[in-house]
Amino acid sequence: MDQTDQKSSFLVSSETKEETKKDFQSRKKPKRYALVSFGELPEYMKDNEFILKYYRANWPLKEAFFSVLRWHNETLNVWTCAFNWVPSVSGIDYGEFFGGASCSGSPWSIPISSDANVSNNFKDFSVGTTKLVDLKQIKSPGMNSTSILNNQDSVEHWPFSVFLGGSMFCLLSSSICHLFSCHSHSLNILLLRIDYVGITTMIITSFFPPIYYIFHCDSNWHHGYLGGITLMGTFTILTLLSPKLSEGKYRGLRALLFSSMGLFGVVPTIHALIVNWDNPRRNLILSYELAMAFFYLTGTAFYVSRVPERLKPGWFDLAGHSHQIFHVFVVLGALAHYGATIVIVDWRNKVGCMRILANTISCELVEQKKRNSDRIEQHLAKTRAAIWEAIVLKSFKSEEKESFVPRGSVYKNAYAFHQ
Ligand SMILES: [Zn+2]
Repeated sequence: MDQTDQKSSFLVSSETKEETKKDFQSRKKPKRYALVSFGELPEYMKDNEFILKYYRANWPLKEAFFSVLRWHNETLNVWTCAFNWVPSVSGIDYGEFFGGASCSGSPWSIPISSDANVSNNFKDFSVGTTKLVDLKQIKSPGMNSTSILNNQDSVEHWPFSVFLGGSMFCLLSSSICHLFSCHSHSLNILLLRIDYVGITTMIITSFFPPIYYIFHCDSNWHHGYLGGITLMGTFTILTLLSPKLSEGKYRGLRALLFSSMGLFGVVPTIHALIVNWDNPRRNLILSYELAMAFFYLTGTAFYVSRVPERLKPGWFDLAGHSHQIFHVFVVLGALAHYGATIVIVDWRNKVGCMRILANTISCELVEQKKRNSDRIEQHLAKTRAAIWEAIVLKSFKSEEKESFVPRGSVYKNAYAFHQ
């Protein structure tokens, strides 16, 4: 073999080595799954024909999991749910409000009172400007000088925990559904149903704190309303668990079921308004709840209409499509309801049932005392008039000369008084 041959043989062998190395590296590198268009989707994933590109289809679970950090048409759906966990988790701190030892701190501040006065008098809340209260300042009664009231039993906190638990379950199931429903047909159906159960659970559980705390002193009402909404929610869950109703064409029916559960809230709301008409926090609570209704209904309108992608198909594939807007409105609605709940719990914590009873009893006692003193006053007036008449007319009814007539400086006319 001459020198030229030796050189070429060396080049060939180094090229082969290079290729083998490349092959090895490409085998080691995980395959990056490509995003596909609506037309390439399997039939079970074809839900929104106005979103044209950036779909994941039939991805393995591991790829689907790590796609949380990739940019596709579900990224913002996953993240808007995950973001909502922040207020929910920080809401757990709020449990301290009911009687815990300390607050580790929540960054959320919401107006809870129409007054800066922490007077014991319920009526004292009626005037004043809106006050911003940091949730970490709210502690159990008796915890510090700014605490809500001393010498009071704090209300039970389980309805609030039920609400937070329901919200967190909904958000978690929704995030998981958006992340993994691209895996396979069977998992897609299962996760969609879990997502619907999550939404229903959140709606049902959001009724617990307001109904429980507003009708706290009347167990018939709070049991009746909570039983009613739980039955309605159970019916909705059973209906939605049918695989047929998970299909895209039943979007309207699902929205109707969710909205009717929301509208059920109108009945206890009107009832609560009537029985708490004099409550100075009425307008604040009502504003929060109206904001919640507005956010939920607007979100539902986007969910059903599939605006704006319907108007410009392909424009909102990655960001700004109806489902993402729906998520944002759900987050806002939940926050508004959270605000209303805090105001209601704070009010119930201050007022309590015993206080209402004590107020009623003390009012009755005052009334009775007033009636008694009025009666005594009337008698005295009559007596004074009779004495005056006896002095002026000298017409004593008693002709008898009494042996004893009281004398002393306190009697101006002892004989007339005696008569
Ligand atoms: Zn969603």
